[in-house]
Formats: sequence, structure tokens, C-alpha cells
Amino acid sequence: MDSLDGTYVKKFEAEVTATFPGIVELDQTAFYHLGGGQPADTGELVWQGGGGRVVDVRKKNRIRHMFEGDLPDVGMKVKGNLDWERRYSHMRMHTSQHLVSSVVSERYGSDTVGNQIAADKSRIDFKPLKLGNTELNMLQDEVNQVISKDLKISISESERSDLENNPEIRSSMSSGLWKMLPSSVTRLRVVKIGDIDVCPCAGTHVRSLSEIGNVEFFKKDNKGSKKVRLSYRLVD
Ligand SMILES: [Zn+2]
Repeated sequence: MDSLDGTYVKKFEAEVTATFPGIVELDQTAFYHLGGGQPADTGELVWQGGGGRVVDVRKKNRIRHMFEGDLPDVGMKVKGNLDWERRYSHMRMHTSQHLVSSVVSERYGSDTVGNQIAADKSRIDFKPLKLGNTELNMLQDEVNQVISKDLKISISESERSDLENNPEIRSSMSSGLWKMLPSSVTRLRVVKIGDIDVCPCAGTHVRSLSEIGNVEFFKKDNKGSKKVRLSYRLVD
């Protein structure tokens, strides 16, 4: 097993399977690794008589915890503690991104061509999109109206072939990254928001839209060739 299922896991126990200078590998982990526009988790690993900080997490065949401190021995039991406030912000931000992408796709037919999530602010690139300030305000109202419906988020697995033939999947995603996965990948993790959005995604998400609060767009940049970057933060 290389990752714990269940995105609300804040603490876990694991066994050290390998170490390298500055790197710890575990038999299981709740740390999210960098990917899909979502930053890696940070936190700590502690064990009897020692411990240190996880400052980054990367996946390259195996999940590597970038570690600051004296290394544990292979075979040791360790406890992992995530920096939960930061990670929970990423979950709220990531679910917001899916929601905004869905509403913009529905209303303007624009594809999501990029996104970067962070704990304090996030951004999404759309193409093609042209948006005045009044329209941006309307979009914000519409997004927050959907949030107030408190739709539930579900995470499941689907056959890749079913997804490729599903017209409900946002056009951004039908031309998106997941199609570039090797053909050996036949099942994909899918994140659904109520009945309004279906998106193949490996990221972490909240269970219900009410956890987001409100989305506030604070910046709109025209990036040329019909590309628009919308920056947002979350307010209560
Ligand atoms: Zn996602």
C-alpha cells in the first residue's frame, strides 16, 4: 500500500521501509504528494527517541518523504502527523477549483487549462474566455449559490473506458492530463460534486460544499490568446 485512503486522516502509523539522505520511505502514508496542481503535505514523523520534519513529499515510483532530522532505522515504527490546517485549506481550495471549473465550463464553454492551489490563494486558467467585471461578479454569485446548496462530494473508481465515453466529463478533462496516463492504467479515481461535476483527480477534497465557505475572486488577468487567469481566496 502506498497511500491511505480517506482524505481526512491527520495522523497515522507506519513502518520505515527505506531511507536515503534526507528521504524516508514508509509502508503506508497519509501525506499527499505534490501533483495535480495541489502542493504536497508537510508535517512530522516521530518515533521513540526521535523525530523530524517532513518538508515535501514526492512520488517517483515510490512516495518519498523529504525529511529534516536524524533518520530513523529501517523497520522502525513511526507516527506521522500532518500539518492539518494547511492540508485542510488545500482540500477546500481543490474542491473549489473543481466547482469553479465546472460552473465556467457550463456557462461559458471554457476549458480549464491550468491551475495552482495553495492554502491562502489559488488560481485557474481558462481558455477561451473573455470576462468583464460585471460577469466576474455574476460568476462569483453563481459559484456561491451552488456552495449554499451544500452538495456532497464523492470519491470512487471508474473504468477508464467509461470515462472516455462519458459526455458529462468537463471538456478540459477530456482533453486533459489524465488521457496522457499510460494505457496500463485502466481504472481511475473520480471525484464527483453532487450531480454537477465529474472529474478524474488524485487530489484531496472536502466531503461537502459547505466546508468551503465562500469563493471570492480577487484578480482577473488576461494572459493573451483568449486565456484568462482567475485568482480566488476563501472567506467565511
Ligand atoms: Zn482535482
